[in-house]
Amino acid sequence: MSENSQRVALITGGSRGIGRATALRLARDGYDIAFCYASDGSAAELLEKELTALGRRALGVRADVADGAAVRELVARTERELGPVDLAVASAGITRDNPLLLMTDEQWHSVLDVNLDGVYHLSRSVVYEMMKRKSGTIVNLSSVAGVHGHAAQSNYAASKAGIIAFSKSLAQEVGRYGIRVNVVAPGFIETDMTAAVDEKFLKDARKQIALRRLGTADEVADLVSFLASDRAAYVTGSVFHVDGGIRL
Ligand code: NAD
Repeated sequence: MSENSQRVALITGGSRGIGRATALRLARDGYDIAFCYASDGSAAELLEKELTALGRRALGVRADVADGAAVRELVARTERELGPVDLAVASAGITRDNPLLLMTDEQWHSVLDVNLDGVYHLSRSVVYEMMKRKSGTIVNLSSVAGVHGHAAQSNYAASKAGIIAFSKSLAQEVGRYGIRVNVVAPGFIETDMTAAVDEKFLKDARKQIALRRLGTADEVADLVSFLASDRAAYVTGSVFHVDGGIRL
């Protein structure tokens, strides 16, 4: 039996990419899995089946992380159907890239609403129960863009930098309750998000990566798994880069 047997993980943005890989990795670690997604019901159903085939309970819910009431309901349903949330992973995220002069208010606000408000909504909805139980772990997905900045991504970089400051602050607030909060900052990872990026851009990006390749979602999921585990029992308020040694 794994060290995490009987525990429940809730992952936002579980239907694709890093969230999906994390759901499968945590299921193999012994977690039952709840996840939310934006729109692709068939991808969510497929993931539920894969999680169930691993012997875990699975709950996929369509819920917009930008909507606080929807996230509160997602957490309440997870608690009703699977049990208290031991681990919350905020992976839901979007990009709407544009140089600032061309950026629309919609592009600015949608990225902040999903990426930063989404992280706030998840932590806000799980933390009280975690405090009562005096245990829990939160892992939030930031980005190298949130650490170094990135041209044409001022909205995305601001949201991802906000996630780092938010997580460090929350870690200080709730550490005394035995709750750990950490941040994973990926570089370029092969998912639908980077599939939308121009190939010429990615070719140039590879030259800036020490390992000369993009990362995989599984490689990010491995880090989330470690941070969630008791092997990281003394780790909180920290930012972990999984970026192949990128120089931006
Ligand atoms: P992805 O586009 O492959 O998947 C995004 C997931 O988020 C999907 O499951 C989608 O349904 C969900 N989602 C989007 N908007 C949502 C909303 N409003 N409410 C609920 N769910 C929503 O993305 P990914 O590449 O797996 O990225 C996951 C996280 O990692 C994001 O926060 C992203 O910013 C971050 N990240 C990714 C990379 C990369 O290179 N892929 C690099 C750095 C950071």
